[in-house]
Amino acid sequence: ARSAGAGQTRSFSPAMREDLRERIQFENDLRNALDLGQFFLCYQPQICATTGRTMTMEALIRWQHPEYGLIGPCEFIPLAESAGLIKRIGAWVIETACAQLARWRADGHEQLRMAVNLSARQLPEPGLAERIGEVLNRHRLTPADLELEITESVLMQDSERSTNRLMALRRLGLRLSIDDFGTGYSSLSYLRLLPVQAFKLDRSFVDTMERSETSLEICDSAIRLAKNLGLDIVAEGVETETQAQLLREMGCPLLQGYLFSRPLDAASAGLFLAADRSA
Ligand code: C2E
Ligand code: CA
Ligand code: CA
Ligand code: CA
Repeated sequence: ARSAGAGQTRSFSPAMREDLRERIQFENDLRNALDLGQFFLCYQPQICATTGRTMTMEALIRWQHPEYGLIGPCEFIPLAESAGLIKRIGAWVIETACAQLARWRADGHEQLRMAVNLSARQLPEPGLAERIGEVLNRHRLTPADLELEITESVLMQDSERSTNRLMALRRLGLRLSIDDFGTGYSSLSYLRLLPVQAFKLDRSFVDTMERSETSLEICDSAIRLAKNLGLDIVAEGVETETQAQLLREMGCPLLQGYLFSRPLDAASAGLFLAADRSA
């Protein structure tokens, strides 16, 4: 069941339900999921808007639950955070994504980069940069090969501290990007201070850009802002050719969304990359 549809998940896990006993059991299941090998990563390409080539793969976690089936991250990452499990899960994600990138590199995808989502609770972890550095070394990767996506809302929570944490990651040489850009009400003066290399324009704006003048304006402004700051920008959630075309016309350099590919399990993502190269 991990093949074609692995990107899609359902949304009625016990985390969302009322029954307390069931929720406690669910949290226990989550506690054991890592040791039982129930997590896996899907990968979704970020495409160069002009050449169509895959520049980066974004790792997205999935949980194959023995009883509830495939569960998406929105249903267990918040629980993992509150239950103190995110550190171990986050470390597993970074390890697995880097191991996968090393395999793809060995297959000849020499320019490919990997992007990983970082939870709010991971950012303040002491020694995070050192541990990521160790994983990269072990897989013969360089920090520039890995991008960390951090949501705008996380960065707003404790801006001075998170800026310091970002600086440490940046000093290591990692690429940093602001996920869900446009949803966090960051001020421009604050954004300017962040040591990031890219924005990910939130899906909600792309989704409505064909019918809302405001969304269209926001997309255009975000793309111009990124350009003016010398940053990369990825439009996420691109589902239609019209959206892709509008974004290209606005000069958006990178596109991601179902139009190009759903999140794919590792084997399918490997095939996607191989087709990309032979094209
Ligand atoms: P995100 O980082 O903003 O990821 C984008 C989400 O949009 C993914 O959902 C992806 O499957 C979905 N998506 C991609 N293209 C399209 C599209 O064209 N249309 C629509 N409707 N959706 C699209 P997913 O995989 O369920 O992940 C949800 C969120 O969970 C992610 O949002 C991210 O914040 C978080 N997440 C995922 N993996 C991890 C992880 O390993 N660690 C942490 N801490 N969070 C993760
Ligand atoms: Ca992301
Ligand atoms: Ca996002
Ligand atoms: Ca999101």
